[in-house]
Amino acid sequence: RLILGIESSCDETAAAVVKNGRVVLSNVISSQIDLHTLYGGVVPEIASRKHIEKINQVIEEALKQAGVTLDDLDGIGVTYGPGLVGALLVGVAEAKAIAYARRLPLIGVHHIEGHVSANYIEHPDLEPPFMCEIISGGHTHLVIVKDYGSFEILGRTRDDAAGEAFDKVARAIGLGYPGGPKIDKLSREGNPTAIAFPRAHVEEAPYDFSFSGLKSAVLNYLNKCHMTQEAICEADVAASFQQAVVDVLVDTAIRGARDYHMTKLAIAGGVASNQSLRKAMAEACEREKIEFYYPSPVFCTDNAAMIGTAAYYEFLKGTRHGLDLNAVPNLKLGER
Ligand code: ATP
Ligand code: MG
Ligand code: FE
Repeated sequence: RLILGIESSCDETAAAVVKNGRVVLSNVISSQIDLHTLYGGVVPEIASRKHIEKINQVIEEALKQAGVTLDDLDGIGVTYGPGLVGALLVGVAEAKAIAYARRLPLIGVHHIEGHVSANYIEHPDLEPPFMCEIISGGHTHLVIVKDYGSFEILGRTRDDAAGEAFDKVARAIGLGYPGGPKIDKLSREGNPTAIAFPRAHVEEAPYDFSFSGLKSAVLNYLNKCHMTQEAICEADVAASFQQAVVDVLVDTAIRGARDYHMTKLAIAGGVASNQSLRKAMAEACEREKIEFYYPSPVFCTDNAAMIGTAAYYEFLKGTRHGLDLNAVPNLKLGER
């Protein structure tokens, strides 16, 4: 089965051809990061306009690299939420047009289900059930993946998402957008124990997260240094902040896996590409005898291969959307 995946929920225009849900024949991503860097974040109006400009080219390239034509496809999978409404609409309209013209099944995919599914791509042995920590720019969830596309949410962030915290702290220390990869890199030159930042846990909700206190602690530290004219070592701030996030992410995921007797743990979303997190989680899983799964960096951040994979499993379950499929900017995980 060949599925064309399309993704345009934020600032990546992406298309991919995926075979039987696990084999990526092509994975084309046109990133708008340079455009948005000018403004220090994603500007929705610019994002939609750029998606319109790029989408046909990206799809053509994905088909070409896979060595297939639209006639070879068995279905079209497209992200229809959550995300920026104007950005989502570009992918959804395009997918509907192709599905209509070629009489192909149309499968709307939840973007976060896509992030989780990225783990299937390089791990032919990974099958539900497993524990998954979803750590992206807009989401932080600890879930049990009960079956393909079926989730039990154990915990979520009460305020900022993990990626959002990286982006905000990066901006505060002058690293610019997007902050995650920049903090990851700078941290390698810093001391993760230089500054004692808080590790927050939410009382009565053992699997929930909270990152806004940590973000404030970093901002307060920077302000205090400015007031007292104390020199700031950005690498130490980055490394100490990152260590605090990593400690919380590892602790919560491992505790969840242990409590629910899960023998497999996966991570998903942009923050899952963080080197320090991958290393710490791998060590913890080794200690706990838990099988640890994580996607290659290119499948952690937004891409269409993960959407093609998620769409394939939805296809097998019989999920089909009509040509009235609409973008749902605040689509919740587990909703249709
Ligand atoms: P969502 O998927 O929740 O809708 P999104 O699509 O914007 O949000 P992703 O593409 O999954 O998010 O990931 C982007 C986020 O991941 C950004 O916040 C970015 O800073 C963060 N990120 C990317 N690489 C790294 C890294 N190496 N270390 C830490 N964070 C990272
Ligand atoms: Mg992005
Ligand atoms: Fe994403």
